[in-house]
Amino acid sequence: KKTLPANPLPTVSQYACQRRTTLDNHNKVFTDALEVLIENYEFSDNKGACVGFRRAASVLKSLPKPLRCLKDMEGLPCLGDDTKAIIEEIYECGSSSRVENILSDEKYQTLKLFTSVFGVGPKTGDKWYRRGLRALEQVHSEPSIQLNKMQAAGFLYYEDISKPVSRAEAKAVGCIIEEVASCFSSSVTITLTGGFRRGKEFGHDVDFLLSIPEPGKEDGLLPAVIDRLRKQGILLYSDLQESTLQQWKRPSRCFDSMDHFQKCFLIVKLWTRLVEGHREDPSSRRDWKAVRVDLVVPPVDCYAFALLGWSGSTQFERDLRRFARLERRMLLDNHALYDKTTNTFLQAKTEEDIFAHLGLDYIEPWQRNA
Ligand code: ATP
Ligand code: MN
Ligand code: MN
Repeated sequence: KKTLPANPLPTVSQYACQRRTTLDNHNKVFTDALEVLIENYEFSDNKGACVGFRRAASVLKSLPKPLRCLKDMEGLPCLGDDTKAIIEEIYECGSSSRVENILSDEKYQTLKLFTSVFGVGPKTGDKWYRRGLRALEQVHSEPSIQLNKMQAAGFLYYEDISKPVSRAEAKAVGCIIEEVASCFSSSVTITLTGGFRRGKEFGHDVDFLLSIPEPGKEDGLLPAVIDRLRKQGILLYSDLQESTLQQWKRPSRCFDSMDHFQKCFLIVKLWTRLVEGHREDPSSRRDWKAVRVDLVVPPVDCYAFALLGWSGSTQFERDLRRFARLERRMLLDNHALYDKTTNTFLQAKTEEDIFAHLGLDYIEPWQRNA
């Protein structure tokens, strides 16, 4: 007679798209530690090391309860020896020496500070670090440093855009965008995507998908939106990227490539009186806040793919694409799903259609916090 294990754990998939990951992270002590390592490897451009730790952290985020003992890790996918050693040390000592060393490392601290500026990535941050710069003020007053337009805006509005954006602020931004977009065409719909669609209460920006039901009508939408924001005096920064869909053939293997939709990265001036629940603060010097906003305009036939692609999380997106490629011989990106077995594009009107094509159970946006 076979005996069942005392406490059978449900099997956990190695793919985030086969797990339900809410914002209720029961293993934050461990995932916070892993995220420090991931960030540090991103700074040194070590992609391989990042992948492993990102997958491990994502598995831990999906667990329905905290890991209580080392035995709980048995049978979990994606936990490499390094990850296990870190978890073990946190169990035994309350913290990981490897993580503590990074946190107190001057280079890590400086790159974290520099890359917190809009428009500054690890490469630029590292360049400034190697020049001996350590503080934002030093960068700003260094005459030999030429900031590009994006970085200049990043410094100018640093105080505001380094603060989290609340859901109430995101809503107020949504009303503004809706109003200016409807001046261009009354049939424009706007959808909140990114972290807020996944249920987050705070974000680093606000992401919207704009859509017009009639094919081909979307040309000119974002230039018109930007123009109106400017005329209202609330456009602080804009970077418009015209559609390059003509150059796109079919989904590629490479995930980190940007999509080809018409889009813009903005900083807008949000009047605080427009934010629901706002209380007048007599001590504050200003009655507005600078907020980062991303707008994307996919053509109608790409809408479901764009919505899925811009809803995140980034790790969820990575695993969706990896699952499609390795388990289904399909290529997925923000524009389309391509079946390599039949050499055909699979059409989708909704996100549910895409999950169904992939033979996956539907995962709600709030369960995609992988
Ligand atoms: P936060 O709350 O910090 O903003 P987020 O999940 O909304 O978190 P974003 O960086 O705003 O993070 O990105 C939202 C989604 O859009 C992610 O899934 C990301 O993969 C996707 N995305 C972001 N920038 C681009 C881009 N240039 N091209 C294609 N997809 C992008
Ligand atoms: Mn976002
Ligand atoms: Mn964004």
